[in-house]
Amino acid sequence: MSPTSSTPASILQQYFGFPDFRGRQQEIIQRTIAGQHSLVLMPTGMGKSLCYQIPGLALADQPVPKPALTLVVSPLISLMKDQVDSLLQRDIPATYINSSLDRSQREARQSAIQAGEYQFLFVTPERFRKPEFWECLSQRTIVLMAVDEAHCISHWGHDFRPDYTRVGEIRQQLVELNGQDFPVVALTATATPEVQQDIVRQLGLTAEEIQLFHHGIQRPNLSIEVRDVWDDGDKIEAIIESTNAFLGSQIIYFTLIKTLERFSQTLRQRGLEHLVYHGDLSPSQRRRTQDQFMSQPNHLVLATNAFGMGVDKEDIRLVLHADLPGSVESYYQEIGRAGRDGQPSRCLLLYSQDDLATQMEFLQWSNPDANYYQELYRVLTEESEAVSSFGMEHLMQRLHYKRKHDGRMDTALAMLFRWEVLEGSLQPFHLKVTQPLPEEIASGQWTSEKQQNDQKKLLAMVQFAKLESGDGEPPDYKAYLNAYFGIQNQE
Ligand code: ADP
Ligand code: MG
Repeated sequence: MSPTSSTPASILQQYFGFPDFRGRQQEIIQRTIAGQHSLVLMPTGMGKSLCYQIPGLALADQPVPKPALTLVVSPLISLMKDQVDSLLQRDIPATYINSSLDRSQREARQSAIQAGEYQFLFVTPERFRKPEFWECLSQRTIVLMAVDEAHCISHWGHDFRPDYTRVGEIRQQLVELNGQDFPVVALTATATPEVQQDIVRQLGLTAEEIQLFHHGIQRPNLSIEVRDVWDDGDKIEAIIESTNAFLGSQIIYFTLIKTLERFSQTLRQRGLEHLVYHGDLSPSQRRRTQDQFMSQPNHLVLATNAFGMGVDKEDIRLVLHADLPGSVESYYQEIGRAGRDGQPSRCLLLYSQDDLATQMEFLQWSNPDANYYQELYRVLTEESEAVSSFGMEHLMQRLHYKRKHDGRMDTALAMLFRWEVLEGSLQPFHLKVTQPLPEEIASGQWTSEKQQNDQKKLLAMVQFAKLESGDGEPPDYKAYLNAYFGIQNQE
């Protein structure tokens, strides 16, 4: 393509093979190419990536002092490889640098970047702690910074990621290094007004400098329904009544693996065939389930919220929540997987008062306190030999006295990976402590703030489930969702 001929529309066709933009993609792309900042809220699967990929390609054609580079900051190491592969398939030179690479791989990629290779680079926010990384960026002109999963920036977001709070500072430093400004596109599927404001502030921008593009709940083909149930028996009947071997793809979400397994057994006895997907299955079992679900038309899957990332199946006809989700954010994200093809699809939430107790328990598990983190960190560092010999067994014994079902361990380890305090993997078990426990965790400040915030979110979910219209009509669930995410007037 000759540099002068590349317009957003021609790039869309040439590289991606799509005839039209979706929603407000074009507006966002044009604004970005013009050098202005945007915050994009769009449901998962709508096409947020194009909102930075096309500007990145267009801006690379403009004259800049050093070879142009688009930085994509993402919290999800597990998705980076797929994102890069999908660009490479389209002949777009892209790569990633994160803690999954060994040192020689990392050094090779950094030299390549220094030498001017690659137009897109995916990194976690933690990468900017490394001087050698800054060194390699100094040989490039940053033309665009995309901040994916931007809700992770916010203290109030459901996935707060401490290093994301440095993104504003990182942007400033990059602008200085660059000698010229560049646009920022922050993208997320869910952010309440509180989280939106926090994102803008953490980016070091003012509300005037950044434009909000909010797609909203424009899903007329989704029917949303809540049904009160008394017990598991009621839930089983509701599931059998709502699912059907010819209905199309169907997902039933559960909060806890043990409930999922119990239901799975009963449903099998009742003759309802299904797949299962949760975090206790091996990666290969999970992949097999996902492949089966994706490739065939009528599968029903019983899943925890571990299922969904990367599931962009268009024809999901039913998303049934067998338990109350922990937040409106996760509920919205999960029902958002239904009916992407625009055909009528059903979202059914079964609400039993008992679920609140389950969620409260879950809340405890997902919020280990500062003492727990300190003790875990102590065992990981001071007893590292026993940890590497006996693995998880040693950790469980030290922290839980062999009590099997205590989810705090999973949460705490996941958090330590997220902060890059830990490197390595759980399967096979190999852990390496790379830095001290961050002060926010050790002091308990962040942990207690997060717990309060999680409680607030659960409360909003309960309110949703108990919504009443007052006039005998079904409650307006979509209006509740719109209000929750701060969308005032929907056309
Ligand atoms: P998100 O990040 O919002 O979850 P992605 O950017 O991963 O979504 O896009 C989801 C899917 O939609 C991808 O397969 C992508 O190629 C496709 N897509 C995006 N924009 C368009 C478009 N304008 N026309 C057709 N398909 C599109
Ligand atoms: Mg995305």
